[in-house]
Amino acid sequence: MDYPGNLFVVAAPSGAGKSSLVKALMELDARVQPSVSHTTRPPRGQEKHGREYFFVSAQEFDAMVLAGSFVEWAHVHGHRYGTSKKAIEERIAHGQDVILEIDFQGALQIKRIFTNAVLIFILPPSWEELRSRLERRGEDTPEVIELRMENAATEMSQAREFDFVIINELFERALFDLKTIVHAQRLKFSSQRRARADTFQALAIL
Ligand code: GDP
Ligand code: ADP
Ligand code: 5GP
Repeated sequence: MDYPGNLFVVAAPSGAGKSSLVKALMELDARVQPSVSHTTRPPRGQEKHGREYFFVSAQEFDAMVLAGSFVEWAHVHGHRYGTSKKAIEERIAHGQDVILEIDFQGALQIKRIFTNAVLIFILPPSWEELRSRLERRGEDTPEVIELRMENAATEMSQAREFDFVIINELFERALFDLKTIVHAQRLKFSSQRRARADTFQALAIL
């Protein structure tokens, strides 16, 4: 499917810095909009319904699956998470760029449907740093942290399926890398022809 807006999909093991990087990118670039997922996980401290996630019951999630409301959904760390069609299609159809922060299973499903989607994998610089970020974030119990560390190996082994890899060691450097990927995508021939239609026409480039 070809839409005027770009779709960026960011995956990473929990704690690699995915949310912090995506948030910082959106603060710098208003053309990038988030896709708000649905989840059966309970909200953490400051999380707000409709902002980080739509927090729903297992029954509500089932109903959405049955109604075909999701583009993709997956089981992650003992809960279900899904991207609704509504969260992305209206925006990319109107030329906005949408960024999805989802797990690798969801990312690969998205690539099958939206073949132009750009898949970006964020890696931590080391196991030690990954654990210390999960501990420092202070949002998860020790059991949840263990589960997330156990799942990290499987997740990271999928990095080879992605278009780009960013190692989030120095935050500013990783943010620069993310901005560069977004920028490069906008310089592609098809995007430029759409964005600069007048120039292309004047130069007689079809
Ligand atoms: P490198 O020269 O092999 O490191 O790679 P590049 O040629 O891709 O990078 C160009 C330079 O731009 C690098 O030295 C980056 O550190 C630097 N740079 C430009 N903008 C930023 C920024 O916002 N943050 C950081 N950390 N570095 C930046
Ligand atoms: P994710 O969304 O991948 O689970 P977060 O964005 O919540 O990860 O980041 C996990 C923790 O690591 C947060 O406390 C965040 O502030 C911190 N963090 C993110 N990137 C860096 C970095 N480059 N250096 C040090 N700490 C970082
Ligand atoms: P967290 O609970 O830390 O916010 O997210 C846990 C995991 O679920 C992360 O790997 C995150 O990327 C993933 N996730 C969040 N939303 C979605 C979604 O809509 N679909 C899929 N497949 N994964 C998601």
